[in-house]
Amino acid sequence: MRHVAIIGAGPAGLMAAEAALAAGASVSVLDAMPSVARKFLMAGKSGLNISHSEDEGLFRSRYTSPDGRLAAMIEAFGPAHVVRWMDGLGVSSFTGSSGRIFPDVMKASPLLRSWLARLRERGAEIHVRHRWKGWDEDGRLVFETPEGRRRLNADATVLALGGASWSRLGSDGTWTGLLEVRGVEMEPFQPSNCGFCVNWSPRLLEAQEGAPIKGVRLSHDGKSVEGDVVITRRGIESGAIYPLAASLRREIAASGQASLIIDLVPDVDAAVLAGRLSEANPKQSASNRLRKAARLDKTKLALVNEVTRGTPPKDPHALAGLLKQLPLTLEATVPIDEAISTAGGVSWLALDEDLMLRAMPGVYCAGEMVAWDAPTGGYLLTACLAMGRWAGHAAARS
Ligand SMILES: Cc1cc2nc3c(=O)[nH]c(=O)nc-3n(C[C@H](O)[C@H](O)[C@H](O)COP(=O)(O)OP(=O)(O)OC[C@H]3O[C@@H](n4cnc5c(N)ncnc54)[C@H](O)[C@@H]3O)c2cc1C
Repeated sequence: MRHVAIIGAGPAGLMAAEAALAAGASVSVLDAMPSVARKFLMAGKSGLNISHSEDEGLFRSRYTSPDGRLAAMIEAFGPAHVVRWMDGLGVSSFTGSSGRIFPDVMKASPLLRSWLARLRERGAEIHVRHRWKGWDEDGRLVFETPEGRRRLNADATVLALGGASWSRLGSDGTWTGLLEVRGVEMEPFQPSNCGFCVNWSPRLLEAQEGAPIKGVRLSHDGKSVEGDVVITRRGIESGAIYPLAASLRREIAASGQASLIIDLVPDVDAAVLAGRLSEANPKQSASNRLRKAARLDKTKLALVNEVTRGTPPKDPHALAGLLKQLPLTLEATVPIDEAISTAGGVSWLALDEDLMLRAMPGVYCAGEMVAWDAPTGGYLLTACLAMGRWAGHAAARS
């Protein structure tokens, strides 16, 4: 019987284990942390958005990867498969009004419990506190454990080591050097699905730190999203900005900063807004005019004053134009460790059709450690599961 070692027990690694077992291999899963799938559990804290119910073609178009390989994996294990797979683990799911798919219980823990029980029942051995350190001169896998160094022989290995954010949950990206010395092409890790830094004035922070800018439309590079944005000490944070993160990151890399356009009153047309502003009582202060005629709340008002340094235009048309297209300068992404996910990692050039490293026959990679990107919305977890399944299958067959 072929023995497959799976290193990294997040969703990609656990799905690789399931696929390798199904293909008849014996399986060991090894993880550096004292318990498995910590990021998966964290993802479930605010509702485990495991997939999305939109049209399959649209779903696959959400991913950034250089060719059709990831799309083929998601076609083989996409949203409908994820739902059936959860059902098989006794976890029913529902689709929210946004099309996002969640387990009924919202949390990840019941799903993980049931999944681990089934993997063990099928023969998987799961070892925690096993930090992978590379290979020895005889090609054996080397792990650091509380009992000292341990070496393991495997017929095939699946690496599912995660990206490089939220390192306290295990995915610290420190494994890159172990592959680079073996000639594996890597792309630098970058924060994705992340907040951005803004040079807020002390005055704005004092009054508005933690406040939401509600119901705005955010635009960049021809793409728009609607939602709320939170003012943080560093800048801005919000799921609404994540779909724009890749293009904002590119502009920051090219020009040192990026301009995010905020429509503070997305439901009101610019001409209607200008009309309301011109009808306002001329004796009103600028702030009162904005509050009453444009219905800006305190936070939006503070933002307009911040961007215009306290002198918004007096002309109603110019003012309406500004409220519809307020430019906010973003100086940088937040530090990578705070990002929900990371882009970069093992280059697709380094991988063959089976997700096997061309430079290291018998070694496969899956999940967030590979260089693809996607917004939040269930796309990240679905791709990790699909890649894990693909790699686990191939590793058991090879
Ligand atoms: C707060 C938060 C909320 C999220 N919410 C969602 C969501 O709702 N929907 C969604 O689709 N995605 C969400 N994500 C993203 C999603 O959780 C990740 O994309 C996914 O967990 C990545 O899976 P993975 O298996 O590739 O890696 P990981 O889950 O990161 O697992 C990698 C594993 O490898 C282990 N490891 C690393 N290095 C070593 C080593 N040297 N030796 C041994 N083991 C090692 C780690 O300990 C870890 O257990 C969220 C992320 C965060 C942080």
